Amino acid sequence: LASSLFAGLPGDAEISFEFFPPKTEKMEEQLWDSIVTLAPLSPRFVSVTYGAGGSTRERTHNTVARIAKETSIPAAAHLTCVDATRDEIAEVANAYWNAGVRHIVALRGDPPNAGGKFEPHPQGYASAAELVEGLRKLHPFEISVSAYPETHPEAASAQSDIDFLKRKLDAGASRAITQFFFEPETFFRFRDAVAAAGIEPEIVPGIMPVSNFAAIQRMSKMTGTAIPDWMAHLFEGLDDHPSARQLVAATISAEMCRRLYAGGVRQFHFYTLNRAELSYAICHLLGKRPVETAREAAA
Ligand code: FAD
Repeated sequence: LASSLFAGLPGDAEISFEFFPPKTEKMEEQLWDSIVTLAPLSPRFVSVTYGAGGSTRERTHNTVARIAKETSIPAAAHLTCVDATRDEIAEVANAYWNAGVRHIVALRGDPPNAGGKFEPHPQGYASAAELVEGLRKLHPFEISVSAYPETHPEAASAQSDIDFLKRKLDAGASRAITQFFFEPETFFRFRDAVAAAGIEPEIVPGIMPVSNFAAIQRMSKMTGTAIPDWMAHLFEGLDDHPSARQLVAATISAEMCRRLYAGGVRQFHFYTLNRAELSYAICHLLGKRPVETAREAAA
């Protein structure tokens, strides 16, 4: 008898989860429920995004500070260069340091008007690499940066995009988290190209569990992420079947993670969109178990 494709995964993958800052009390509740659900899986860290143009400055800060205060999970704050002077960025970073936050996901960011061109603030940072340098001078933060397996839309070429990545890592970042993608081969090719460029820090795949296919199509257009035909086909006819859609979504993402794992990947970063179920199910299939259960099993 053939055993399950997921049989025997030892649960040694390291995971992290990304959230966005909630806008309303109800969203805050949903976010907090998700954090409480996912926390027993012992993520290495959870991160909270920073809205375009710094629009969520306060909300991001409050969310990250609450995680740092009320949980034992290391919290990471995303921070961008958009519309901010170097002094303003230093102020935000100092507030994080004082709140006990030790990890920043440093990004250039996109302009608030979607599709517009990024213009650096005259007294600000012009790129994520400059931001990393600036943050390093302020405090000994752990710093993560972004990476683009399908090349950033503004990059002159795939190679120049990797050169930029190298600059950010050389400036003091310790890992890169990738934009989402839907074919493991996309990640493996990128990993090879990054290794060929002499980049050693870990490249962590960003996993987007897709449950709203239409929304992902819109996002993918902006990020330049290819949506495979087979995926469109798998979501066809499920618009009015939310539960079936969730099951299909979990199957697709879990299978991608399993193939990444088989290819040697041991770190996964999940774009949770503030919902726990899909990420939890995928981690479970990867062999992750809540810490209490793992301890009980060992006893
Ligand atoms: P950079 O690394 O500075 O640049 C990205 C690429 O653009 C470079 O690799 C290079 O190829 C090209 N490029 C940039 N400047 C130049 C130049 N001068 N000349 C030639 N090429 C250039 N956005 C948010 O607003 N908030 C968030 O919280 C957020 N979180 C993210 C988390 C992850 C894991 C990822 C992958 C992205 C996130 N983003 C976020 C999106 C990000 O801000 C955008 O993709 C933005 O367009 C680029 O930011 P960066 O930090 O990658 O920029």
